[in-house]
Amino acid sequence: MKKSPAKKQALQRPKGTQDLYTPEISRWHHLEKTCQRIFTQYGYSEIRPPVFESTALFMRGVGETTDIVNKEMYTLASKTAEESDSNINTLTLRPEGTAGVVRAYIENGMSRWQKPVKLYYMGPMFRYERPQAGRQRQFHQIGIESFGIDSPAADAEVIFMAMQLFKHLGLRDLTLQINNIGTPACREQFKVTLKAKLANQLPQLCNDCKTRYETNPLRLLDCKMPSCQALLQTPEIQNFLAQDFTAEVEQKAFNQLLSLLDELEIAYYRNPTLVRGLDYYTRTVFEITSSSDALGAQNTICGGGRYNPLVETLGGPETPGIGWALGVERLLRLLPEIPLPPLDFYIATDCHARAFQLAERLYHQGFSAEVDLTEKPAGKQLEKASKRGAKQAILYFQDAVQARKIVCKTLSTGEQFSGSLDGFLEALQGTSVKSL
Ligand code: ATP
Ligand code: MG
Repeated sequence: MKKSPAKKQALQRPKGTQDLYTPEISRWHHLEKTCQRIFTQYGYSEIRPPVFESTALFMRGVGETTDIVNKEMYTLASKTAEESDSNINTLTLRPEGTAGVVRAYIENGMSRWQKPVKLYYMGPMFRYERPQAGRQRQFHQIGIESFGIDSPAADAEVIFMAMQLFKHLGLRDLTLQINNIGTPACREQFKVTLKAKLANQLPQLCNDCKTRYETNPLRLLDCKMPSCQALLQTPEIQNFLAQDFTAEVEQKAFNQLLSLLDELEIAYYRNPTLVRGLDYYTRTVFEITSSSDALGAQNTICGGGRYNPLVETLGGPETPGIGWALGVERLLRLLPEIPLPPLDFYIATDCHARAFQLAERLYHQGFSAEVDLTEKPAGKQLEKASKRGAKQAILYFQDAVQARKIVCKTLSTGEQFSGSLDGFLEALQGTSVKSL
């Protein structure tokens, strides 16, 4: 007896990733199109850098003491001895968008463009994290960067654009949290004092925070552990955080930004513990959170800030910059489902080439149409038309094709048009799809 081949085990997608397809994909298209429209109106143009870059770019551009670089990067196995020599030549799947955009800005000489240089990007990011609701290993961001202007007007514009975008998308119950984290120099003083204030609590901090205490104490404020959060709630720490540690010039610019936000009627909450996950920010940092039940604990949909030293850090000319990125998966949980537009015509036929040409004429008039690809009798094809949810079924079989005639049936009412093909197409001219 012939042995049947062993059934192959189906493979599964990697943990923390998603397959995106219809009907969910309609929401993605809606978000992408809305962003493209609004960003273009504001004078932004799209940039598509590679999804992998040299590991060194993220180490320098995101910061070696950040969670992203320390724990979350997908660094590819070296293919050559030359690569394995150092981090400089290994490649990493991008965990965020800004470092790559800044690298591209420098490498492509965009610093010679008229300022501000306004760029936007959309695409997948990769972080090795524990997958949970709102936290994936491959997720998507849509982000913007505005290079070249240090004035508070640039900060106000990017925040205003984000808020307008969310308004256009119909999002409600959003909170803008904002903080002034000053320059790296101001932060040094802040870090020393923060460490001193927390010295007695050191044993109670989580293991990550014990490391952060030594390597990057600012990150202590960013810890998600409730026990560490509680330690920061003491009046002493809160009073300390409420003080402005930043230089006068930074404070002045930040206050101007707040006045602009007031004028724009954008409500904000000044959150002194907001430090953001990346090292490169200066002065303005912000996050937009949602209080919707759909998000639960991962309720930040957009984060951003000013990163004045970054272009220089990555080897470019001194160039101020500000930007933000939104998490697509989290944002989409807040949008209602978008119903797929119904199919306008289903063409039942036994003359496929002619039916494709007829469909093409319908497309030309702005309709959607599908041709039945089977050899089944007309009755069966009509059943498929109904199941497919088409508004109209066209019967276009050999006799009709030869006589240049057509039968078109409105599936919801059974009403029927029967006549010449040209007359039918002419009657359709100017008919809006909705009124079919
Ligand atoms: P979190 O504090 O939630 O880890 P983050 O500070 O690491 O966020 P950013 O680097 O600021 O996040 O990224 C901007 C946005 O991208 C976040 O506000 C969030 O909406 C989204 N995001 C970040 N990490 C993930 C992830 N692993 N899965 C899904 N979305 C994410
Ligand atoms: Mg994170």
